[in-house]
Amino acid sequence: MAKFGILLITGIAFIVIVSMVITTVETAPLSTPLSLTNDPNQPRMEPRQITRDPRPITVVINAGDGGRAPGAVVGGVMEKDINLAVALRVLALTRSDPRLRVVLTRMTDRYIAHRDRLKIAERAGAALYLSIHTNAALTTQARGIETWVDDSRGPTDRSWLLAEAVQRGVIASVGAVDRGVRSQRLYMRHTRLPAVLLEVGFLTHPAERRLLLTPEHQDRIARGIVNGILDFLNL
Ligand SMILES: [Zn+2]
Repeated sequence: MAKFGILLITGIAFIVIVSMVITTVETAPLSTPLSLTNDPNQPRMEPRQITRDPRPITVVINAGDGGRAPGAVVGGVMEKDINLAVALRVLALTRSDPRLRVVLTRMTDRYIAHRDRLKIAERAGAALYLSIHTNAALTTQARGIETWVDDSRGPTDRSWLLAEAVQRGVIASVGAVDRGVRSQRLYMRHTRLPAVLLEVGFLTHPAERRLLLTPEHQDRIARGIVNGILDFLNL
């Protein structure tokens, strides 16, 4: 009986204390949490400062072919030269951009094996690998721009997103025929980096070949590539 009395008193005391705590919480002034963020002594943090990494993101641009590998040769125009001209323009356009650090696999007309090009990208800590090529066809009618992804890449591989972004960027900048994103067996299967191969136009199409030789057109392609990369990296 005495035990029951103690239990009863303890129980009542417990209920009283709990209800006091609940009342205190309920009546706490609503302005308390708000005043913390409005405190003029607190440093103001802009969202950009919190989420944005100040270090540039490294991207590797490969000028396809080079040296003893000229690529397609049509009417005295060599693919390796167009590829390099566009790659150098991508570098020039991004030189003053703090968001990107562009590394080229080659800056001159020289031969580099495919595996070594990928090694350059991996050693540089690249976020992506983009190879620039110029197309050729058996007919003189084929024209336009296309982006290739290695066919070993699964549907969730980020190379597809990179390909879509670059294709979209270059088409928007150049206004050429959009041949879309395609897949075939590529040497890019030897890297796990997001990797695409961009074909910037056809040397076998007479009008497109003339256009590809002009600095203005090369510049438009390069701008499209940069926009596509920035889009892919959410920068
Ligand atoms: Zn090529």
